[in-house]
Amino acid sequence: MGQKVLVVGSGAREHTIAHTLLKGASVDDVYVAPGNPGMVADGIHVIQLSESNHAALVDFAVQNDIDWVFVGPEVPLIEGLVDDFAASNIPAFGPDKQAAQIEGSKTFAKELMQRHGVPTAAYATFSDFDKAKEYVEAKGAPIVIKADGLAAGKGVTVAMTEEDAIRALEEIFLDHRFGAAGASVVIEEFLEGQEFSLMSFVRGKEFWTMPISQDHKRAYDGDKGPNTGGMGAYSPVPQIAQSVIDEAIDKIVRPVTAAMVDEGTPFNGILYAGLIATADGPKVIEFNARFGDPETEVVLPKLTSDLGAGIWALLTGGTPEFTWDDQRATLGVVLASDGYPTNVIKGAHIPAFTIDDPDTHIYYAGVTTTGEQGDQLIANSGRVLLVETTADTLQAAQDKVYAIIDAVETPGLFYRHDIGAKALK
Ligand code: AMP
Repeated sequence: MGQKVLVVGSGAREHTIAHTLLKGASVDDVYVAPGNPGMVADGIHVIQLSESNHAALVDFAVQNDIDWVFVGPEVPLIEGLVDDFAASNIPAFGPDKQAAQIEGSKTFAKELMQRHGVPTAAYATFSDFDKAKEYVEAKGAPIVIKADGLAAGKGVTVAMTEEDAIRALEEIFLDHRFGAAGASVVIEEFLEGQEFSLMSFVRGKEFWTMPISQDHKRAYDGDKGPNTGGMGAYSPVPQIAQSVIDEAIDKIVRPVTAAMVDEGTPFNGILYAGLIATADGPKVIEFNARFGDPETEVVLPKLTSDLGAGIWALLTGGTPEFTWDDQRATLGVVLASDGYPTNVIKGAHIPAFTIDDPDTHIYYAGVTTTGEQGDQLIANSGRVLLVETTADTLQAAQDKVYAIIDAVETPGLFYRHDIGAKALK
């Protein structure tokens, strides 16, 4: 008999993780808490428990003979949910509270990289507006301003002028836009080059890398508009040479995982390296302590081995097997509510997509139900869903995804029309 797994989280990332687990023979049942109603059609059990209610999640796992748990999002990881499952002898895949600091505190990540010579943007940390402003005036633009704590990918301003940089500092220090997450800022050197995401399954000093992908952070076509959680992604990223990936593994993933062990905060889980391929080689923009969203939605469809079996092996000291389809290409486009990320207008109806292709899937995020039968999906958050497909080439994948989206009406929703364009130029 296969295993019963609990996935914590509610987004398209968790939908993808749950769907991929169910594809493997090792897992029979997947429960997602709090999940979303868009997952149900895939045979996923949705459990109405908040990801912040650790006691209730642990209790659910105990009561329902859950074999192991996958914690998807950063907030419960940083708040120690993996530690809480461990205290009840439930294996949970993800970093503990100590190790999750690699995402939870940009200062923690920066200092670790500095101590171990890991290439990243030069930076300084400030907790005082006047000193931060002086630094910006001394360095000049372009320059990057980051709220220190978690801000769901939205705490970063890439300022092309000094005025924009100072406005960002004012928002953080004087308007307290990010609350406690903005109590200090990291000000970084602007790095120029193509971005890519390199995710790995990690167990202490051992790691298994995944195919790379590229996210599209800005809200609008042509990388215009504010930074978002991510508007779409694709894989592979042909403009990033294999030698750059190899260098990233040698100079970034290997030393960072080793440093975490050597410094007493061993990392177990998914380590996400957000990288820029600069003229001086790959450099770190940020680490995340979990799967990226939307990268997961285009990377996990390439997995040809059993995800649940691989993670179970990681959790139990076995030798995991992760194999990938490295021939075909994947591409995913996010549909978001109008106004995202600043003034989300909820309530858009989810279009009735017609999909008769086993290589195409819709992963749901911010949706809820309405209607007399409670069977109409409507948007209740910023990012609503992602349409993903696999095809022989990136061009074919892009054509296929946009043909599906363009065939339906999308009032109240918007999406970028250029996902994958940098690879296809
Ligand atoms: P982060 O939340 O740290 O990933 O930053 C969000 C986005 O801001 C990144 O995906 C980049 O597009 C951009 N960014 C962050 N740091 C830098 C940097 N030092 N140089 C250039 N762009 C950056």
